[in-house]
Amino acid sequence: MNKKKEFITENCEQTEKIGEKFATLLRGKATVCFYGDLGAGKTAFTRGMGKVICPNADVCSPTYSIINEYKEKGKTVMCHVDAYRITDSDDLYSTGFYDCIDYKDCITVIEWSENIPYAIPDGSIKITIEKLGENKRKITVYGYPCEE
Ligand code: ADP
Ligand code: MG
Repeated sequence: MNKKKEFITENCEQTEKIGEKFATLLRGKATVCFYGDLGAGKTAFTRGMGKVICPNADVCSPTYSIINEYKEKGKTVMCHVDAYRITDSDDLYSTGFYDCIDYKDCITVIEWSENIPYAIPDGSIKITIEKLGENKRKITVYGYPCEE
């Protein structure tokens, strides 16, 4: 654990694929925190993860809902959080964020983690996505899971 891993992608599909592979390596509960601008590819990466974690769902941005919960066989398997419009901890509390963090074996994915530094659990996996060009992205994962 705690391995840093970097990727360069040239299109959205490549970013999704990296998200997909990453998700196959997660075991049990995890929190994945994204850092990066609008249009970096945070949702694209999460969509890739969703193909593995909740293959029956179409993952879309929780821009308005703030949290999208995905279930498999009645159990919440992934919570996708968009903290862009969160202003303070009371605001965050009212969204049900802390319930997501407590769900057993649930993967919580957070976009705009920059906005809620006080709420990021210890041991979270951090992912930064930088725009290097129109379609080029640098994805850095801090805490890439073991590949065996
Ligand atoms: P975010 O959630 O970070 O705001 P999205 O995943 O919603 O970003 O959108 C990323 C946008 O950038 C999409 O329009 C996508 O087609 C485009 N794009 C271009 N190149 C890439 C790439 N290499 N990886 C991810 N998205 C890319
Ligand atoms: Mg997004």
